[in-house]
Amino acid sequence: MSSARRFTGIIAARGFAEGPVAELGGAVARYVPSGDASREATTLRAALAMASAQLSGLMALASADAADMLEFQLAMLEDESLSQPAFDAIVAATDASTAWGNALEVQIAIYDAAKDDYFRARAADLRDIHDRVSRALSGAVDTRPPAGAILTGDDITPSQFLAADWSKGGAIVLRRGSAASHVAMLARARGVPMLIGVADLRAGSTIVGLVDAATAGSIELDPDSAARADFNARRATNDKAMHEAIATLATPAISADGSAIAVSVNIAEPTDVDSVDITHCDGVGLMRTEFLYSSCLPSEETQYRAYARVLDWAGGKPVTIRTVDAGGDKPVAGFTVEEANPFLGLRGIRLALAKPDIFRVQIRALLRAQALGDLRIMFPMVTVIGEFAAAAALFADEAGRLGVPVPPLGIMIEVPATAISPELFAGVAFFSIGSNDLTQYVMAAARDNAAVAALNDPTHPSVLRLIESAVRGAAALDIPISLCGDAGGDPNSIDALLNTGLRSLSVAPAQLALAKRAVAAVTIRP
Ligand code: PEP
Ligand code: MG
Repeated sequence: MSSARRFTGIIAARGFAEGPVAELGGAVARYVPSGDASREATTLRAALAMASAQLSGLMALASADAADMLEFQLAMLEDESLSQPAFDAIVAATDASTAWGNALEVQIAIYDAAKDDYFRARAADLRDIHDRVSRALSGAVDTRPPAGAILTGDDITPSQFLAADWSKGGAIVLRRGSAASHVAMLARARGVPMLIGVADLRAGSTIVGLVDAATAGSIELDPDSAARADFNARRATNDKAMHEAIATLATPAISADGSAIAVSVNIAEPTDVDSVDITHCDGVGLMRTEFLYSSCLPSEETQYRAYARVLDWAGGKPVTIRTVDAGGDKPVAGFTVEEANPFLGLRGIRLALAKPDIFRVQIRALLRAQALGDLRIMFPMVTVIGEFAAAAALFADEAGRLGVPVPPLGIMIEVPATAISPELFAGVAFFSIGSNDLTQYVMAAARDNAAVAALNDPTHPSVLRLIESAVRGAAALDIPISLCGDAGGDPNSIDALLNTGLRSLSVAPAQLALAKRAVAAVTIRP
């Protein structure tokens, strides 16, 4: 029996890590006030300028994803409404450091209390800005966590992430955190393992931690030899499977009994395809388009360029682009609405239809891009056929104006009502099962809540029964069906999925090799 202290959470970025545990936080050097209001104001102005210069300097060296985040912080920092309350307080005889701290605390509290995940996740950016300016005020030097460290804490700021040296491994384990935060996106892009919602984590004087953000979603502190052996075995199995899978990546996915299985990739940003050889997959089964809406509502041209890049890469293979699926766990400023229960509210196609002016911009970009390849369009969160019909009518209207045809229009099956009665969707060009949402709705367990993560099991018999219902319904209507939820890329789920009758999966690029290898081991029951 292991004596290690083991804590579990939600995987926000996959991988394994072993290293020294470093608690995030770090003291800021003490600020010495001058006692003179005008000197305090000058000092704060200089600190703000220094922080801006630091962010601009970091931007010049950063990769595209990090540069976007830094640009966002710079825009916040340079927004005068952020610092004005501090300058007002200085006039009323508060020192620069206290005035700045108080002003930011108010803003951070507002963001922390937001119902909307997107805004809550931005509180980390504000904390980051707070710390950067505070360090500039006190003349403190940025301290870097040791290379390869497992950084633990309540949350991590983007600057802390960027300051760390990830070239020697390392991981992030947070008591709170959000899979929608800028840091989570950076961690996924850089391959830094990350766990969130590890509520009971008490690192204390811990020296070493073992992070499994691939299979168990766990961190083990000060492991004994049994815990270490178990961790090494899990890691070795994972690494071996990965190497073997990569070696056979170019071979088509055929199950042990000889059934050909189509395996496509799920992408978000167009750059996601850079790591994928198109000959290794059957095209794009899901392109999520929400990334386009991350900082503002995108223009038709911005969208067209993103879609064109992916269609060009696909070289004539199918590319299924999903219309914007905002709401729920994917809030978009200026688009989604405040709701008591966003997962059951105005999200996906419901929101797009409620805001047709925003939706029509995307429709036009998609219609123009279809000339560049085999484009298929998919609507998210469809619950009743009327939603499909309304969206199709908008496509027909815009296509008429542009003088172009309407590409194949399909739907996601991710609401139980749709999976239970697929026969109500005759006339749809294709179905794609969204097992992430379908599972959370069937199991009544929010996909972003660490406390109910164990219930969120796509291989539960009730979820599989609904997938089978959708597959049978599709066959009866002669409509092609695929699955693009994360379960499709999970080697542990693939046997059960293929045995529901599915013959097409779409998986995250990082899972492509493992998924194809898992297909080869499956025997489909007659
Ligand atoms: C799903 O719900 O399974 C899905 C693929 O869509 P998303 O994860 O983007 O909601
Ligand atoms: Mg979904």
